[in-house]
Amino acid sequence: MKRVKIEIEIDFCPVEELSEEEQKLVQQSIDATANSYAKYSRFYVGAAVLLANGEVFIGANQENAAFPSGLCAERTAIFAAQANRPDQPVEMLAIAARTNKGLLDNPITPCGSCRQVMLEIEDRYQRPVRILLYGKQGVYRIKSVKDLLPLSFVDANMEHRS
Ligand SMILES: [Zn+2]
Repeated sequence: MKRVKIEIEIDFCPVEELSEEEQKLVQQSIDATANSYAKYSRFYVGAAVLLANGEVFIGANQENAAFPSGLCAERTAIFAAQANRPDQPVEMLAIAARTNKGLLDNPITPCGSCRQVMLEIEDRYQRPVRILLYGKQGVYRIKSVKDLLPLSFVDANMEHRS
């Protein structure tokens, strides 16, 4: 038996050390938390997607009394971007979250379903998507969704069909 080690590299830095463009997108994700409809969890998440043409689409989590009917901030932003600009690759995605006590200290991390959707964005446009996960203590900057989802499942895995 062979043991395989999978390593990923993530940058962690204060928000001020990010590029101007990155800081702007992080701020847009923070602002987007105000649009969250989190009546049940009271966990307000915002996301901002930067497209190749420079446009930004924001998203915020939308909850529902029938729990599975709601959707995470990341996916509302990504799907809105793709529904409106299907020809534009995604360059960057920032995520922020707060509770009634304020913004989170540690970086917010996306759920598994959102990671899968983010991965498909990279696959669809054949371009890495930079991810910025905001926390007051610092930001995780990840150069590709693949780093968030090792051993991932993409369309190519289904090539045995026919
Ligand atoms: Zn999610």
